[in-house]
Amino acid sequence: MSDDEFAPESDGIPTVSCSRCDREWTLDHELDELHAGNRAVEQFALDHERHTGHYPDDVTPWIVRCQRCPGGERFLAERPARRWATAHVRHTEHDVRLNGPEGATDVTTPEDGS
Ligand SMILES: [Zn+2]
Ligand SMILES: [Zn+2]
Repeated sequence: MSDDEFAPESDGIPTVSCSRCDREWTLDHELDELHAGNRAVEQFALDHERHTGHYPDDVTPWIVRCQRCPGGERFLAERPARRWATAHVRHTEHDVRLNGPEGATDVTTPEDGS
């Protein structure tokens, strides 16, 4: 591995930076190996969180947390977050709190639908 093949941004390869790691990555690996396409940034962000415990810059997840169960889930888009909340409520009848990137909070309860 060497850095001398550093690809300029003009290649259209997205880059992601993380101020906590003080690093910047070119997502050529994600594009080539994972065929992640325009989801490369999302895939990278998820991997980064999985391995470091935090997200790169400019990535704010949707956080879904059950009021009764420990833990929770994080998603980079509203749709899967709401799907998780709806499914959890459906199976457990627990209230689930959804925190959006802009600070929006939403609670899904069993009464919301059937
Ligand atoms: Zn980082
Ligand atoms: Zn629960």
